[in-house]
Amino acid sequence: MVTSGSSGTVSSLSDDVRTFKVLLVGWIVGGAFVVLCGAGGSPAVPLAAGQRPAARPVGDRPHVSQSHVSQPDVELLVPVLGIRPEQLRDNFDEHRGNGTRTHGAIDILASRGTPVIASVDGTIRKLFTSRAGGLTIYQFDVAENRVYYYAHLDRYADGLREGIFVPQGTVIGYVGTTGNAPPGTPHLHFAIEDLPPTKEWWKGTPVNPYPMLTTRALARP
Ligand SMILES: [Zn+2]
Repeated sequence: MVTSGSSGTVSSLSDDVRTFKVLLVGWIVGGAFVVLCGAGGSPAVPLAAGQRPAARPVGDRPHVSQSHVSQPDVELLVPVLGIRPEQLRDNFDEHRGNGTRTHGAIDILASRGTPVIASVDGTIRKLFTSRAGGLTIYQFDVAENRVYYYAHLDRYADGLREGIFVPQGTVIGYVGTTGNAPPGTPHLHFAIEDLPPTKEWWKGTPVNPYPMLTTRALARP
């Protein structure tokens, strides 16, 4: 408010009072909001040292802040529980199918039944069984820039279905040897592909997960 002269003093005093009222209302509303949020949400329990943040129930979608939304350069989680980035081997360029093609993925060795976890936040786009991949999952990231492919699963996590959102770290399946994996070598075949504009989940262009998992992977105990 623009005022002048002595009335200006009165006006600015009344402005001060108004400002104080606005602040007071703000404090009350803000305080009530904090109380409501505290009562409504599940309590945030700090993780003990060595405790894993994974294994959320499937479909349990928490509030995800903007900074955690998946982007092309998002930090990945190694998709097998208990496997550290330094244990991975880069076999993206290895020849497969008697040299007729390159692998285009990395294989992560683990015991049969080890939980497979979502490497990023995203949506389960397709549950598919193929001769080569066996039991597989195609997950889109939030921005639908990339598809994350998990293959040779022993089984899916209970409740997993197409269309649901799974936060990073959610158990989505278990390591196995379905498809063409050697029966004595359970492993997760993990691929990341850039999606075409049509978003067809089977038509992606492979990108190597290894550098992303070893240089930008989240440090989890
Ligand atoms: Zn493989």
